[in-house]
Amino acid sequence: MRARLEEAFEAGAVAVGETGLDFHYDNAPRSRQREAFEAQAEIAVRRGLPLIVHSRAAERETADVLRGSGLPADRVILHCFSAGPELLEAALHEGWYVSFSGLITFRGYTTVEFPRRVPPERLLIETDAPYLAPVPMRGRRNEPAFLPATLARVAETRGLELAAAALLTRANTLRVYGLADAA
Ligand SMILES: [Zn+2]
Repeated sequence: MRARLEEAFEAGAVAVGETGLDFHYDNAPRSRQREAFEAQAEIAVRRGLPLIVHSRAAERETADVLRGSGLPADRVILHCFSAGPELLEAALHEGWYVSFSGLITFRGYTTVEFPRRVPPERLLIETDAPYLAPVPMRGRRNEPAFLPATLARVAETRGLELAAAALLTRANTLRVYGLADAA
């Protein structure tokens, strides 16, 4: 395990994760999930890398672990954000990144104010491929080429031009993962 981890960092891993808590599926006992989450947060702290965090039906516990982790605010990414107001408020208060997927294009997505409330410098988008292909590709195998549909929704909720939303989320992505601007 440790050797594989070293290999990953040597190969240029730019983040740790995804990790987190899933009390919806409960695929592992909650105490074990929490231990693993804390251990991976510690790796991110040690490496100075961002931690990509999955959270489902575990808002308070997720925020607790993150607050106790010693991770700086700009090293936390709440990925594929689908939680409720409690975790969003924690993210806004702490200054964590919040990343939205194709989920926000679905008809049943009711919390459209969430992508609007995240501060511009903390806003990210992602595919969560192969899952959650955005409308109108919903139901297909998701891929990066579909990301503009998610971007369009973000732009719409924030009243931004598509190009402005693209520049913003791109700049945030490059910054949080420490990637050089190849444009
Ligand atoms: Zn996830």
